[in-house]
Amino acid sequence: MAKMTLKDLSLEGKKVLMRVDFNVPMKEGEIGDDTRIKGALPSIQYILNHGGALILMSHMGRPKGTKEKELSLAPCATRLSQLLNRPVQMATDCIGSQVKEMVAHLQSGQVLLLENLRYHLAEEKPELDPTFAAKLAELGDCFINDAFGSAHRSHSSTALITKYFPDQAAMGFLLEKEIQALSTLTHPNRPFSAIIGGAKIKGKIGVLRKLIEVVDELYIGGGMAFTFLKAKGVEIGNSLCEDAQVALDILKIAPNKIHLPLDIVIAKEQEVKTVDLSKGIPPQWQGMDIGPKTVADWSQKLRNSATIFWNGPVGVFETPQFAEGTRAIADALANSSAKVIVGGGDTVAAVQQMGFGAKMDHLSTGGGASLEFIELGHLPGIDALTDIN
Ligand code: ADP
Ligand code: MG
Repeated sequence: MAKMTLKDLSLEGKKVLMRVDFNVPMKEGEIGDDTRIKGALPSIQYILNHGGALILMSHMGRPKGTKEKELSLAPCATRLSQLLNRPVQMATDCIGSQVKEMVAHLQSGQVLLLENLRYHLAEEKPELDPTFAAKLAELGDCFINDAFGSAHRSHSSTALITKYFPDQAAMGFLLEKEIQALSTLTHPNRPFSAIIGGAKIKGKIGVLRKLIEVVDELYIGGGMAFTFLKAKGVEIGNSLCEDAQVALDILKIAPNKIHLPLDIVIAKEQEVKTVDLSKGIPPQWQGMDIGPKTVADWSQKLRNSATIFWNGPVGVFETPQFAEGTRAIADALANSSAKVIVGGGDTVAAVQQMGFGAKMDHLSTGGGASLEFIELGHLPGIDALTDIN
């Protein structure tokens, strides 16, 4: 079912309540990276240009119902004000009489940022206090969700709140762009390849099960690869490893689609070397990155793809010694004619750090949300929005 978008709403003179994802990385009170704030700018500017009075709400970190000062959104108000070149008011809470007062005085073209939603337990656990969503809803005439990174959560501000806006709950531009890009993976141009790496094997089982069914080729690198190698009887030394049964199940579904590393950069304390996997990894050594043979083989094979999805670095890219595999894959994808979609917090950070960001077709801003959308084809935060025909 198609969902209402920002352009379907009339905004002139309205109090527009928008959920954004300003959960930016903070370092000693400073914003480490403002990509997420910038991601919401197209929707913010559109609303202000169309005469809306804008009320923004977001979470930051995990204060679990306490008013942790370090997790205040105030630095985001300052940064947003610089980016917009206009004042942004900051509320001391997200509900309550003071907030209501500020909203009542808010004029067309003005912006108010509410304080961290997760200062209230009911944000993450709506069942504790269903009136929390109602109190947030009272602040706006219409509701926009532009927080793709939180769209896989059934929280007060992402899902419950929409019942107070039965025909006025719309997607923002960022959310719309994400859904459009990720939906191409449901009907991809073929051959369709996926590269999956990273460390959170358990969290990626669902998406692996789905991908093995829909892709033509599946490349498994990073910490993820060793569970699969072990399942195939390869010695993996001290490398990251989880339940081999899961890997066996996936291997069984379509063994011919799966590509595992041929060689691996391994480390033991300060020593580093590359080994061929036909010989396995010696005891006490840990696999850190895919080796040059693997890079050459995968880059060559990936050249035939028409669509590529990448989630999970193929090595411990934070350490320069083990970043070469991830850099080479990013380079291959950046120079590929395929439609390339990259998802995952660390993968997107790696791609951007290495300077390949602009050459990818889509960098997904939501790690968990993008994987869940690929796996299930829908998200609670999107399901909850107003249907249109
Ligand atoms: P994303 O955030 O892109 O979804 P993950 O969070 O699953 O990715 O994984 C990223 C982490 O995986 C990085 O911190 C990286 O160092 C780690 N990683 C990659 N390869 C290995 C490996 N061989 N052994 C251990 N950790 C690895
Ligand atoms: Mg991560």
